[in-house]
Amino acid sequence: MEAKLTGKVEYSYVTCKSALSKSRLPELDYALNPYVGCEHGCLYCYSRSILKDEKMALRWGSFVWAKKNIVERLRKDLRRKKAGVIGVGTITDPYQPLESKLRLTRGCLEFLSVYRFPVSIQTKSNLILRDLDLIKPEKFDVGVTITTIDKNLAKKLEPKAPNPDARIQVVEELADKKVETWIFLGPVIPYVNDDRGNLEAIIEVAKKTGSKILYDRLNLKRWVLESLKPFLEKEKPGLSDVLPRVLGFGSDYWVRVSEVIRGICGEKGVKCEPAFPYV
Ligand code: SF4
Repeated sequence: MEAKLTGKVEYSYVTCKSALSKSRLPELDYALNPYVGCEHGCLYCYSRSILKDEKMALRWGSFVWAKKNIVERLRKDLRRKKAGVIGVGTITDPYQPLESKLRLTRGCLEFLSVYRFPVSIQTKSNLILRDLDLIKPEKFDVGVTITTIDKNLAKKLEPKAPNPDARIQVVEELADKKVETWIFLGPVIPYVNDDRGNLEAIIEVAKKTGSKILYDRLNLKRWVLESLKPFLEKEKPGLSDVLPRVLGFGSDYWVRVSEVIRGICGEKGVKCEPAFPYV
């Protein structure tokens, strides 16, 4: 029976023609995203740039479309596609709040856990711990995004995502179960979460859990700056005017911060690499 979708966020169902799409991300062959839109509503989220409509893009976080037939489609795709690595949650979080009710990601994992395709999941949510029974160390790896260890800042930047402590717990529990883990340290936003103390604290979690660090900077795709502006104007007046220059061509900002991240990782013996080395 189809679950009824209610709540302040606008939920609706859509259908998809196939579950797996070709991935353009390094090391992934396919992408699997059970939801369009993401209730976590991170201000810096550049997934909003896939939308055609600016109003919708600026309402990111207030609507979610669930691909109601994705589990059935995935079963068909797994039978006919060549084996390859599947990235779960490449565009939107597969463990956003609606998943606790619809269990679409879980339904997909039930198939993925028995097919020969390796799986890489990325999330910010401790809801993933519900599916520990399906996440087999021999074929799954899991990445958890930690942007800041400051709960107050996280609440402002990522209003409906679980707090940093809950995410750290996810990394710890998965590592305890011998699942390969990595921490997505990003986006690093100039003068917001790029202080050494924050970077060190996140890298320390990687050290303790044997996780790799993938780091990335703020990506100013369309509508990202507009989305961040009210926050920046309140917290860091003037920053939104200079961000494009700080992150643009001719600026050595990212070279310097990357060196700091790599330096801390080197000191702590943590493997690290840029999330998007080709950018
Ligand atoms: S959790 Fe990921 S997909 Fe969801 S809003 Fe945040 S950055 Fe975007």
